[in-house]
Amino acid sequence: MDKQLLAMLVCPLCKGKLKYVRESGELQCLYDGLAYPIKDDIPVMLPEEARAMDADEKLPTSPGRTGEI
Ligand SMILES: [Zn+2]
Repeated sequence: MDKQLLAMLVCPLCKGKLKYVRESGELQCLYDGLAYPIKDDIPVMLPEEARAMDADEKLPTSPGRTGEI
């Protein structure tokens, strides 16, 4: 995973920073509780492709939500 590319990526839902988890090959948004898969080194930044994380994996609040759906 390219570190520079990684630094540019944000969650498509909340625009928050993502956490790269090497072990699972996922980019996690701890605010939305979604883990985006990385396929062939390409992050798949689609909410419908993301895995819903367990409640204890995510943070309780979302930052900067401005009323988008
Ligand atoms: Zn998010």
